[in-house]
Amino acid sequence: MNTGGLVVSVCPTCGSPDIRMVRGSWVGNYKGETYSVKELQYYSCPNCGEKVYSPEAMRRIQEASPAFLKSGGRQAERKPRQTLPLG
Ligand SMILES: [Zn+2]
Repeated sequence: MNTGGLVVSVCPTCGSPDIRMVRGSWVGNYKGETYSVKELQYYSCPNCGEKVYSPEAMRRIQEASPAFLKSGGRQAERKPRQTLPLG
C-alpha cells in the first residue's frame, strides 16, 4: 500500500485511533480567493476534525494556491541576498 510515505495511526491532536485517510476535493482560501485540489488524499480525524497532510498532499495544495501561481510557479520567493562590504 502506498500512502505517500506518511502513516498516521493516531490523531496527533487528540490521540484518537479513528483518524483515517480520506480522499476528496479539498478547498482552500487565500486572501478571499478560494481554490480547490481535486482527489486529494489526507488524514481526517472524526473526533476533533484535525487534518494531516502528507508532503505530497501539501505540495499539491501549494501548487494550486493563488500565491504559488502568482509567483510564477516558483516554490518559494527568492530574493537576492545582499552582501555588505566589510570594512
Ligand atoms: Zn483528533
